[in-house]
Amino acid sequence: MTIGIVGGGQLGQMLALAGYPLGQDFLFFDRSADTPAGRIAPLLAGEFHDEAQLAELARRCDVISFDWENISVAALRRAARGTRIAPPLRALGVAQDRLAEKHCFQRLSIATTRFAPVDSLASLSQAVERVGLPGMLKTRRFGYDGKGQYLLRSRADIAPAWEALGSAPLLYEEWVPFDYEVSIIGVRSRSGAIAVYPLNRNYHVDGILRLTLAPWRAPQLARAARRSLSRLLEHFRYVGVLTIEFFVHRGRLLANEMAPRVHNSGHWTIEGAVTSQFENHVRAITGLPLGACDARGHSAMINLIGSMPDARRFLAEPGLHWHDYRKEPRHGRKLGHCTINEATASRRTARARQLLPRLYPQLALRP
Ligand code: AMP
Repeated sequence: MTIGIVGGGQLGQMLALAGYPLGQDFLFFDRSADTPAGRIAPLLAGEFHDEAQLAELARRCDVISFDWENISVAALRRAARGTRIAPPLRALGVAQDRLAEKHCFQRLSIATTRFAPVDSLASLSQAVERVGLPGMLKTRRFGYDGKGQYLLRSRADIAPAWEALGSAPLLYEEWVPFDYEVSIIGVRSRSGAIAVYPLNRNYHVDGILRLTLAPWRAPQLARAARRSLSRLLEHFRYVGVLTIEFFVHRGRLLANEMAPRVHNSGHWTIEGAVTSQFENHVRAITGLPLGACDARGHSAMINLIGSMPDARRFLAEPGLHWHDYRKEPRHGRKLGHCTINEATASRRTARARQLLPRLYPQLALRP
């Protein structure tokens, strides 16, 4: 089978690396061939709304998926008529719009932060009145890794926040003094089977994921997260991998957002689970049986952001796996990650604690 993937970043590259051993072929679609996936697989170049190129992708592929959310659902739907798309575009459409996402969570009784839509300076004032302070003003679309967000601490921030973000449709939500963040990743097959990975504990700095510890042993939270994930998977008759990110606040989960794709907090599954999230996504969308999601040991995944450390300083670490996406260094850009795997959770956390200051001398990040 040939799998078409819209977006050719590191997620796409890891999908291809997992899919080739299953006998699958890949064709990527991105703005330029100089991307992580473009270096290991054929790639069509074009803008994401270029319907002629999307139609060409559809013609040459048996199924189309995506590794990136900010693509045009309408263009893909029109261009790919007749070709199977997984995950469903309905799920992608909801995930692209924070307001639709919040409404979807509410409809499925998945607890989320209090929020109000904002489309004018006056409605921002009303939203602040209703939801309270502090709060986050976020763009409804095209936000990722904390981009397109403004923290309002007092009413004096209303005008500057509107000034900064007001040209796009917005959402105002309560700022949650959460204890920590977790995510859950699961997969649904074409025949409706569901498999879910253990809970991930995530550490962000400046809105960007830095560290994931998995499995994170919090049985009650894991059960609640699994329930929410299954509800979404069933609701969309979903096919492929789906992720939900949550805040843990006073022992409860509040859904922050969902991602209809393989997720950065699941990179540890490459070395730390029986079947990786990438392999399971490929299995699901090609109609193959799913693999087990059980963890093998205890993993810590550290993102390498902004500049790539010298691998030679780290590869002698026992059980350390290095992933260099070979991207141009840029402030705040994810350039790679590394994963360590240990027999016990305490040993895993101790190793992460010892590695972090070597990888991030400038950051205080304590697992
Ligand atoms: P997002 O783009 O919504 O995933 O936000 C990126 C990160 O910003 C989250 O992982 C949190 O660390 C932080 N953040 C976002 N929204 C809120 C909120 N309502 N309250 C507190 N922190 C938030």
